[in-house]
Amino acid sequence: MVEEKEAEKECIFCKIARGEVPKEKFLYENDNFVAFPDANPKVEGHTLVIPKKHYVNLIDMPETMASEMMDAIKKVFELRSKEGAEGFNVVSNVGPAAGQLVMHAHIHVLPRKKQDSWKMGV
Ligand code: 5GP
Ligand code: ZN
Repeated sequence: MVEEKEAEKECIFCKIARGEVPKEKFLYENDNFVAFPDANPKVEGHTLVIPKKHYVNLIDMPETMASEMMDAIKKVFELRSKEGAEGFNVVSNVGPAAGQLVMHAHIHVLPRKKQDSWKMGV
């Protein structure tokens, strides 16, 4: 438990969710999730949706949080659609073998346009 608390103190996404990183502006927030732009966007409007509480990844998160997570994802769809997104890729890397670098659960929401040049590796 002590180790867990230590991890949360140092975790960059916990700091962002607590509002401790002024340059990170929230796009949307509900009781348990927050959405903000990815620092290294793969496409225009690349957004991360994260739980405010520290979970390592989706496997670690309780199923009961799913509908609130979906609310945040759909809100990002809505906002990015208004900015011109024509479609989306929704991705979560679960575990280092899958490319997860930040060990705080997160969903990538990637706005797409028919003519963009990015190819998702699925
Ligand atoms: P992962 O590979 O873990 O699924 O992706 C982590 C994502 O978090 C990457 O796309 C990376 O650009 C983003 N990221 C890492 N650190 C920060 C940060 O401090 N702020 C923001 N906004 N994004 C971050
Ligand atoms: Zn965290």
